Amino acid sequence: MSVEVRNLVKKFGDFTALSGVSLRVETGELVALLGLSGSGKTTLLRIIAGLETADSGAVHFYGADATAISVRERKVGFVFQHYALFRHMTVFENIAFGLRVRPRAHRPSQAEIAQRVHELLKLVQLDFLASRYPSQLSGGQRQRVALARALAVEPKVLLLDEPFGALDAKVRQELRRWLKRLHQELRITSVFVTHDQDEALELADRVVVMNAGKIEQIGTPEEVYHHPVNAFVYNFLGNVNLFHGRIENGKVHLGDTILELGSAERQSVNGASGNAALYMRPHLLEIDRTSRGGKSFRATVRAINAAGPQVKVELEADWGDPVQVELDHERYRDLAIEPGESVFVCPRQSRVFIYQI
Ligand code: ATP
Repeated sequence: MSVEVRNLVKKFGDFTALSGVSLRVETGELVALLGLSGSGKTTLLRIIAGLETADSGAVHFYGADATAISVRERKVGFVFQHYALFRHMTVFENIAFGLRVRPRAHRPSQAEIAQRVHELLKLVQLDFLASRYPSQLSGGQRQRVALARALAVEPKVLLLDEPFGALDAKVRQELRRWLKRLHQELRITSVFVTHDQDEALELADRVVVMNAGKIEQIGTPEEVYHHPVNAFVYNFLGNVNLFHGRIENGKVHLGDTILELGSAERQSVNGASGNAALYMRPHLLEIDRTSRGGKSFRATVRAINAAGPQVKVELEADWGDPVQVELDHERYRDLAIEPGESVFVCPRQSRVFIYQI
């Protein structure tokens, strides 16, 4: 079941929560809506579900206008961040609920319900917990039960709103991998909301980056990460250093430092002059003990954190801005830098994202 929204506008009073959002989710795809709090992700999800109506624009299911399809016929399954499982029902009964409340003509027999629930419990790897109550489960187990409950009614579209939002980092990671495998197996058209970049980049077939009620970019994780269409997307997807400077004659002036631009950046500024914001990822900066002329700038090491897969070095540039650099441990050992030392920082690749202001 493909889902398409066209030019959706949604206002709450004077506030525009969605301003002209268009998106097509292909059958079997897993799409992440990624954005800061308040960017309109949940509103978009609720409109797709039919729980909220847009002021203008259209929602299409299977190529047909969804206004003609009742919420029940849309066959949408939901998982929310705090999905309130029925507290007085066992895990088994929670999952069976959607099947039991079907109109008599469509209701499976007791034996069929039991079989289906056990299949789903196996799928979410909680077979051994069927007779427990929600209060006897961990947060991660509860979310898996919520997912099994959503899947019980055989949805054509699965909508997940921050499904792992309330869980701690380690459980989130486990569930992420688990959901990815599950999606590969079931291939249900799915849209999930998250504000966690890593989650979106790891899980989704395509990522929709939202900002202030608009879509900034839609693309595969590789596309949005390596080819961001603008400074917002670049800034949002991962750690970044932001410097303010001036561009003149194809060179960037940062305080007294003059940096030469790579060919890609020169093209992007197209000979223009003026104020510019420069974005550089910490892992794409290199530290040297010697200058590389116009390709590097001088900075002072302020702090070093060597715990973790990368060594995080905090520096202060000559013009006063803080600079973060991430080095691998081998390079860090070779450099043998200490706080207080003066070094040179060099953008390792032409990955400087310039935004004229
Ligand atoms: P979060 O990650 O915090 O859930 P979100 O991107 O999902 O954020 P939405 O929940 O879609 O954002 O909300 C978008 C904006 O619309 C917010 O500023 C919110 O305050 C506003 N909003 C949402 N629902 C309503 C409502 N029923 N009445 C008034 N304003 C609303």
